[in-house]
Amino acid sequence: RTEEPWRPFNSSRVYMADLESALHYSLRVELADHAVIKGDALIALKNYISVLAKYFPGRPVVTNLLKSLNSWLQNQTADHISYKGFKETVDDTPQVLDAALPEGVRWVGCQGSQPHFRGYPCGVWTLFHVLTVQASNTGGSDPKEVLKAMRNYVHHFFGCRYCAEHFENMAKEGLDEVNTLISAVLWLWSHHNQVNNRIAGALSEDPLFPKIQWPSPEMCPSCHTVKFNGEHGWNKEQVLPFLGSYFSSSRILTDYLE
Ligand code: FAD
Repeated sequence: RTEEPWRPFNSSRVYMADLESALHYSLRVELADHAVIKGDALIALKNYISVLAKYFPGRPVVTNLLKSLNSWLQNQTADHISYKGFKETVDDTPQVLDAALPEGVRWVGCQGSQPHFRGYPCGVWTLFHVLTVQASNTGGSDPKEVLKAMRNYVHHFFGCRYCAEHFENMAKEGLDEVNTLISAVLWLWSHHNQVNNRIAGALSEDPLFPKIQWPSPEMCPSCHTVKFNGEHGWNKEQVLPFLGSYFSSSRILTDYLE
């Protein structure tokens, strides 16, 4: 693999290039491992694409593609689909419709200091934070819709299998408590922090991007409090608007797009 030039970025912003790269990798690389998709995996795929079609706050050309992919998929009535058919729909939904997903990955905020660091898993987290916030801002109907789609996508398809297992255990225990769109945003934030905590210092950690309890006090001073016993606490009344703004569609940067 030829080294790509480093792309300077603002580490407190979300980049559309990371979100589109995650979609490319998910739809054209990760799913390609499954020649035939059926049963619960097919339901998981349908729900994932449906959530993307509803909430991905992308460029029109990309959201058009997600919507036509969703219509195609929801119209598949057989008990299985072939990945080949799915891929053809991703790639050949004709330009007539002005619908396309750019090929390849261009990691920006998710760049790693080495090619094996960050990238896709970072893109997946970012994508789902954006989707929970988007569902919350646009008044989605089912508070668990996005998290269930994430849980089942990860369970059936996420390439890091032990990550998927860990995440499934977390989701099994905690998803019941999510009964509002706001609590879905907070659930993903706090469980992402649990993962950060568990894997801080692991070999998979990019030394240039150490795992922290996020957001740092520098990024959001008012998100942090000290409890009466001296322990660190989160001020969720401040965390929520912080997440709402950080991941909001209107703040996503479009640098480095093709
Ligand atoms: P990431 O953790 O990928 O985060 C991406 C970006 O999101 C960060 O740069 C930051 O801007 C922001 N962010 C960080 N924390 C939060 C938060 N709490 N809320 C909102 N935004 C935040 N790796 C393992 O080694 N073991 C595992 O068990 C494991 N399980 C995983 C489960 C899932 C579902 C996923 C998607 C990934 C998992 N990974 C696991 C990978 C790991 O979590 C990281 O994605 C990877 O190490 C890259 O880390 P990163 O530095 O890019 O930050």
